[in-house]
Amino acid sequence: MDPSRAFVPADALTARRSAGLDPATFPATGPALPSPRPDGAPASFHVLAKPTGAVCNLDCTYCFFLSKESLYPGSPFRMADDLLELYIRQVIESQAADFVTIAWQGGEPTLMGLDFFRRAMDLVERHRPPGMAIEHSIQTNGTLLTPEWAEFFRDNHVLVGLSMDGPPDIHDRYRVDKGGKPTHAKVLRAARILQAAGTDFNILCTVHAANADRGPEVYRYFRDEVGARYLQFIPIVERATPETIDVANAGWGDRAGKGPGKGPGKAERPLYTLEGGLVTERSVTPDGWGRFLIGIFDEWVQKDVGTVFVQAFDAALASWVGTSPAVCIFAETCGNAVALEHTGDLYSCDHFVEPKFKLGNIRERHMLAMLASPEQRAFGEAKRDTLPRYCRECPVRFACHGECPRNRFIDTPDGEPGLNYLCAGYKAFFTHVDRPMRLMADLLRRGRFADEAMAILAAPG
Ligand code: SF4
Ligand code: SF4
Repeated sequence: MDPSRAFVPADALTARRSAGLDPATFPATGPALPSPRPDGAPASFHVLAKPTGAVCNLDCTYCFFLSKESLYPGSPFRMADDLLELYIRQVIESQAADFVTIAWQGGEPTLMGLDFFRRAMDLVERHRPPGMAIEHSIQTNGTLLTPEWAEFFRDNHVLVGLSMDGPPDIHDRYRVDKGGKPTHAKVLRAARILQAAGTDFNILCTVHAANADRGPEVYRYFRDEVGARYLQFIPIVERATPETIDVANAGWGDRAGKGPGKGPGKAERPLYTLEGGLVTERSVTPDGWGRFLIGIFDEWVQKDVGTVFVQAFDAALASWVGTSPAVCIFAETCGNAVALEHTGDLYSCDHFVEPKFKLGNIRERHMLAMLASPEQRAFGEAKRDTLPRYCRECPVRFACHGECPRNRFIDTPDGEPGLNYLCAGYKAFFTHVDRPMRLMADLLRRGRFADEAMAILAAPG
């Protein structure tokens, strides 16, 4: 999920590797790069590619992306080699910047097998112009990782995101396999394999009903037991209508909707769409989200500034410093992070893989033309232009910007639609961190280090 939003350790941004493919193996076909560069084309953008589509070897109860399988009935759910090359060629040649990210997500991308990614690396080298740096990232549930994978990631400087929700009793509440069996032990094994190979990784932890009240405990578990230094927390908000709430509460995986009998959980699994004003019982509450963030922030700001990196805190600090946060959800506008399905279909965003947000197919239309299209530009600008007055007048708008439009489905206190469901949590969090963030931003502006804030905040008075 969310990727949104690859979280990038700054010291890993290099590309290397020698070319290896016979140029005749995959003749370059497909639409040509639009020339001149279309009006509105972003200088750089981010593509989340899903080589297995929504297919995953796990069956996490809250993973509504699993339902997106129904968009491609009968599909083998494997990105073809010629499409792989077309994608890599287009994403590289589209960038006006000299830095490109190739990001893999799912479903579970490791189901493609290691050879697929070896080919991807070779293709990147074949198409990479001199002077362009390319960063690779992959988001995985970790259950299929072996030392060979870990060495491949290390040798190719692939930034690995590992999905884990906390200690076993939390993680195994929703992150289960196709038989409903726990997966924590396998994910911890993956972390150990990565560490043994010297491969850096970040933990992607979703926050939901089972861990929202245990923020500091979850944070300490990752820091002290897992030994992770890069952490990303994502709130689970699963929307539903009165008609779909029972089915949604049963979960989105293969196990839901199967088995004898009728009733909630036994109906055909629907395609998840961003509709309805209800949320599932697994979803985090707005106050719970705020408490979770505040709980881990208080631990982090006392002990771990400069040694543990939490994506939401880095983004907040960027806002207090006055630069753009690297995370789309806290940016004023978006639209430069698209999702590529295994068929070549391109969608406005990973969270909007729905028929009405499909921009086209890269076999038929160049991705740069789709990024520059009026509909995609409008998609990105709507993030700013549809903010309710309540947000426009909010004292922490500069850091929040109404968060992601996917979560804007409640009314403001004065009845205007379009407020973010998580607003109360964000308002509490951004208000709570104001003083330490001001302090750290001031230190940075004066050429000093943010971690000096720990001693200043601990001093009496
Ligand atoms: S809709 Fe916009 S803010 Fe939300 S995840 Fe997508 S790109 Fe980011
Ligand atoms: S904290 Fe709430 S009111 Fe303020 S910008 Fe964010 S969503 Fe809008």
